[in-house]
Amino acid sequence: MQIPWTPAEVVARILEAAGGYEFDTFVIGLSRELARSDPSAEQPLRELKAAVGRRLLEIWPGREVDFLRPQIRFDVSPASPVRVSASPLFVAGRYRKLSRETPASRWIHHTCRGAGCASCRWTGELNGPSVEELISRPLLEACGGEETLFHALGREDTDARMLGDGRPFVVEIRGPRRRRIDLRRALEESTRRGRGRAEFLLLRLVERDAVRLIKEARAEKTYRVWLRLAAPPPPDVSERLQGLKGQPIRQRSPTRVMHRRGESTLRIRQVLESRWLGEIDGWWAWEVRAAAGTYIKELVSGDGGRTRPSVADVLGVDAECLALDVIAIHWSGLLEEEL
Ligand SMILES: [Zn+2]
Repeated sequence: MQIPWTPAEVVARILEAAGGYEFDTFVIGLSRELARSDPSAEQPLRELKAAVGRRLLEIWPGREVDFLRPQIRFDVSPASPVRVSASPLFVAGRYRKLSRETPASRWIHHTCRGAGCASCRWTGELNGPSVEELISRPLLEACGGEETLFHALGREDTDARMLGDGRPFVVEIRGPRRRRIDLRRALEESTRRGRGRAEFLLLRLVERDAVRLIKEARAEKTYRVWLRLAAPPPPDVSERLQGLKGQPIRQRSPTRVMHRRGESTLRIRQVLESRWLGEIDGWWAWEVRAAAGTYIKELVSGDGGRTRPSVADVLGVDAECLALDVIAIHWSGLLEEEL
C-alpha cells in the first residue's frame, strides 16, 4: 500500500497550521482511516509519523514531543486541513467584590439572549459586567484564546460583597495561542476595568487539577451580617448569639430558592463562631463563621420556621438580614504562600 503523502508534505502542512501558536511540547496524530481500511498501511504510517516528528524536532530546537500532556496537538489527515488543538491554560486567583450591584457570574440579558440590544446598552448583560467577565476578558485577550470557563469556590449573592482576602477561582482558557502571558498586566487590567466594583489578587498559572479542587472544596465562611431588628436587642444579646455555636442548625430549603431547587430538603449546618459587634454606623452587626452551605439570610430570620434555631429565635425579636459581606473563605487548597 502506498501512503499518499510524503514526510515533507505533512511537515509543510503542520508548519503552516502551527503559525501563531506558542508551545514547548507537541504531539502529532495521523489519520487512522487509512490503516483501518488497509491493515498493511499501519507500518508505513508509523514510519511516516516518526519521520515527520524527527524533522519537526530539527526545525524546532527546544521543543519536545510529549505524548501524555502536550501543549498542542496536530491532527493530520489527507483530505482535511490540519486540526490544531491547544491544551487549555488555567489561571488561579482570588477576587474581591466591593459592589452590591455587580454579579459574580455573567447574567445574560434574556430579551436579546446576550447578543446586545438598546435596552442593555449593547452589552448583552444585565447589571453591567460580572466578576467573571472582568477577569476573563483580559485573560482571553492576553492568550488569544477561544473561550473561557470560570470556576469559583461557590458564589455570593449579587447583593453581597466579597471582602477580606477574596474568593478563590480558576479561569480555564480554551484554545490559547499564547501561553507565556503577563499575568501582572492582566491582573491590573481586570482591576482597572472593575472600577472599584471588583478587584483581583494573586493571579498565577496552575495545573488542570485546580478546577476539580476548587469545585469539590467545601469551605467554612465568615460573614459580617447587617441586621434589622424589630426591637432593641436584649442586654445579653452577645451570650444569646454565642448560644447558636455548636448546636445543629436545621435548615429547610429557603423560600427564596424553592422555585429553582424544587422540592424542599433538610440541611443540618453549624455555627462555628459568633460575635456580636453591636452598632456600627447606625446598623446592628453580627459576625458569624458557619459551615459550608449554610443559608445565612435564613439563619437570621428563621424563614418562617424553616430554619431552626435562628437569630430571631434566640433573641426573641423579629430579625432580618439587611446586607451581607463575606469576609473570609477558610480554604487553602491551592497553595498561596503570598497570603
Ligand atoms: Zn440586551
